[in-house]
Amino acid sequence: HHVRHREGWIEVICGGMFSGKSEELIRRVRRARIAKQKVAVFKPAIDDRYHPEAVTSHNGVHTAAVPVRSAKAIMEQVTDEVNVVAIDEVQFFEDEIVDICQQLADRGVRVICAGLDQDFRGRPFGPTPTLLALAEYVTKLHAICVKCGGPAGRTQRLVNGKPASSEEPVIQVGAEEQYEARCRHCHEVVE
Ligand code: ADP
Ligand code: ZN
Repeated sequence: HHVRHREGWIEVICGGMFSGKSEELIRRVRRARIAKQKVAVFKPAIDDRYHPEAVTSHNGVHTAAVPVRSAKAIMEQVTDEVNVVAIDEVQFFEDEIVDICQQLADRGVRVICAGLDQDFRGRPFGPTPTLLALAEYVTKLHAICVKCGGPAGRTQRLVNGKPASSEEPVIQVGAEEQYEARCRHCHEVVE
């Protein structure tokens, strides 16, 4: 006899900035919708800035998304008919996002999280490392290092054109800053 296949699992798409995480998240969302699945897309509203209600890739593709202020708000908005929950910029959520992804997957939802696995200092970022450990599927993407053309797993933070110091907060709203894709060897952090 057949063992009934049960749905629900966690997929994580990680990597540095410009590695194509949003592009890949959007690709998976579109394919699920083609298959007539009900998909809900969320992203964090990290501050009071204007939040366009979309996930947008640096290559220009986009899909509608609901900005939420907490992980709990995701739970409140996922109704029983939702098959797929996609969450972009997952590194910006508090640790409770982990529990919420687990609960959704346990009750049969395909959970797709995309986010940075390292901050600008090259250290594990927020809840992403824990999600990587708990996920059924992990995809680690790479950008192209702007210095040497190698595989870029890191995100170089530049403040006024210079490598940022490790003392600076990970999330800095309103600073004159820029980010670049760089490999391990070209990545610079001022101590
Ligand atoms: P992420 O969500 O990981 O930041 P996006 O999906 O927003 O990635 O952007 C991926 C796109 O970024 C690529 O398809 C490419 O058009 C563009 N891009 C810009 N700089 C780079 C780079 N250094 N390496 C690779 N892609 C880059
Ligand atoms: Zn390099």
